[in-house]
Amino acid sequence: MPLSEIIPGVQLVKGKFVDGFGFLTSYLVHDGGEVLVIDPGTAGHPGGEIVKAIESLGLSPRHDVVGIVCTHGHPDHIGGVWRLKRQTGALVMIHEHDADVMETPSLFIERRLRLSRAGRLAMKVDKSPIRVNFRGVKPDCILKHGDEIRVGSYSLRVMNSGGHSKGHCMFYLTGKRVLFSGDEVNNYPNDARRFYVDLSGSLSAKVTALEAASKLKTEYLLPAHDIPHILTDVSLQFSEAIDGVRQFQDAILRVISGRGDADIDQIAFDLRRTHGVPLPTGHEALLPTTIEVALRTLESAGLVEGENGVWTLA
Ligand SMILES: [Zn+2]
Repeated sequence: MPLSEIIPGVQLVKGKFVDGFGFLTSYLVHDGGEVLVIDPGTAGHPGGEIVKAIESLGLSPRHDVVGIVCTHGHPDHIGGVWRLKRQTGALVMIHEHDADVMETPSLFIERRLRLSRAGRLAMKVDKSPIRVNFRGVKPDCILKHGDEIRVGSYSLRVMNSGGHSKGHCMFYLTGKRVLFSGDEVNNYPNDARRFYVDLSGSLSAKVTALEAASKLKTEYLLPAHDIPHILTDVSLQFSEAIDGVRQFQDAILRVISGRGDADIDQIAFDLRRTHGVPLPTGHEALLPTTIEVALRTLESAGLVEGENGVWTLA
């Protein structure tokens, strides 16, 4: 059973390790005969392991699951929702800005990634964790920043981070110093600087959310794609994640400055060639998508200007 206890009442259900994406991890929060599932993963992983994990805690998947909550609407976090809802009958919860992709998974490749028509067609048959060939679910409960999710006597505070995707939320288990960080911190394993965002995301929102989260005095940082970070290791993850965003933006500015002007394909080419900063892995669309969002952030900061897809320093 791939179930391990972080602290009493918080369990990790370990999914498989997927090259380029890292782990697919789900979490259970349980107290007083109730259990909440955080991020059920893809349709396959951790998949059926979650129901087994609930049973191994002496709880009933049919009666004791108070909710299935997703940090955001990416396929590797919501793909398992339909089946788990059928097995448990639990309420499904997600932030309002990611509710559309939960209900209609193909919107992820239609609106959230920088993909050509051919790229979109290829992703329909994709076998990676961000494939979209699974059934969508209309959420039962729409989350807002500041909401509280109750499980027994526990309470999780909803913190809309809005960086990785506009509806991305982190959940803070009040009183236990546990932060479920989804993909906002430790988006990939082993290097907190590596990240990607979708087209609805924002690098300024990401940095603001990371700075706010770093002040929570979290002792247990529980990401979806990396191992848990505990006690002294935690603050390092936040500072490296913020550094990662700044280094990525600086690298884009260096490319534009070096070339005089550049489009997104040229920027992606130069970033891949120079290996100066950690780049998103797992799917080729993630780098140009993240560059596009970064350029928008740099544009609103008055650092770059874009016209007809060509970017120059402002
Ligand atoms: Zn994600």
